[in-house]
Amino acid sequence: MDRILVSHAGTLPRPDGLKEALQTNASGAQETLSAAVANVVRRQANMGIDIVNDGEYSKVRGFSEYVRDRIGGISATDGTRKRLSVMGRDAIDFPGFVAAKFKNWGTNLALCDGPLTYLGQDITQTDIRNLNSAMTGVDAQAYLPSIAPGTIEHWLQDGHYHNEEKFLYAIADAMHHEYKAITDAGFLVQIDDPDLPDGWQMFPEMSVKDYRRYASLRVEALNHALRGISPDKVRLHICWGSNHGPHKNDIPFEAIIDIVLKVKAQSISFEFANVRHEHEWRVWQGRKLRDGVTLMPGVVGHASDIIEHPRIVADRLITFANIVGRDNVIAGTDCGLATRLPHAELTWAKLEAMVEGARIASRELWAKKKVAKKAPARKPAAKKATVKKKAATKPAKAAKKVPAKKAKKRS
Ligand SMILES: [Zn+2]
Repeated sequence: MDRILVSHAGTLPRPDGLKEALQTNASGAQETLSAAVANVVRRQANMGIDIVNDGEYSKVRGFSEYVRDRIGGISATDGTRKRLSVMGRDAIDFPGFVAAKFKNWGTNLALCDGPLTYLGQDITQTDIRNLNSAMTGVDAQAYLPSIAPGTIEHWLQDGHYHNEEKFLYAIADAMHHEYKAITDAGFLVQIDDPDLPDGWQMFPEMSVKDYRRYASLRVEALNHALRGISPDKVRLHICWGSNHGPHKNDIPFEAIIDIVLKVKAQSISFEFANVRHEHEWRVWQGRKLRDGVTLMPGVVGHASDIIEHPRIVADRLITFANIVGRDNVIAGTDCGLATRLPHAELTWAKLEAMVEGARIASRELWAKKKVAKKAPARKPAAKKATVKKKAATKPAKAAKKVPAKKAKKRS
């Protein structure tokens, strides 16, 4: 591969009426879904996205709670306990803002009141079939997202196992079937695990040490769910909750990165394109990664409606290429865009900016030797311009540090 591949982290804009048709199981809803998946796959591939998905169109309950329809042993809550807030720590600093903006936040927890079993084979096979047929004649790879055990726990209360570890492992055993079905179908599975960083905000009383223990147990359960699945079929997506809040008290990436890297996934998607986490490219410097691990930093994001300039997208990718090598970077989004941006037009424009930025970065990263040869021929008169250019492309300055890794084969 002689360029940066492009993907994204999840939701894409649904056609008008599709959600309602699926929710009410309207006549023809399934045919409409299949056609919509075919369209969105073609649209992604046509615009230059290399690793596409189904837009999460079938998951009308959302990226996490969709499995309520796929796991047995869950009943509606008695209404006594509400979800813990992923803005729990921020709410202490910003009580007025959180109360005003998120006053309706916090649905009731669902209740696990019996052994958890996976009942989603048919629905998952429908997702697989839709994506499979959408991929016919399309020159791209495909992935399907699936939720992590720790994130399921955000809305599911244990009323059966009465033991944190047993409960988590039971969720993992159920979800194993879904992960396996996706990878057996030949797709990449993207494990959505915002909990890994954002659980920190849910428990304001925890110390970093306590939280590392909490997160480690959940990663162990996730790896249990991933048993028997080759890591090169797995992409992990983490984010800090992605709500439009202050994020002032997000856990620093540095505090959990070693735990994140324990997940048996060959690719890691994480937030980088926002003002709270953009500085955290530094956590990757000098870090030893397993052979073949690729990083998928968000180079466009949902935190702002402003469309990223392709040049900043390219600069962000070059920053990572300089740290882990150009063959080990994939252009991605901070999180699923469609649910958090106010209009479909913005999602598509951001994806276009990402594709264009990846092209710019690829041109520069793969033409680097040529540029380096030309450089000494410059006359002193160009000094001012050279300095300006250097300042404008600051991250690219470390280009000479690019490790001479060989191109890795991606699944
Ligand atoms: Zn996310």
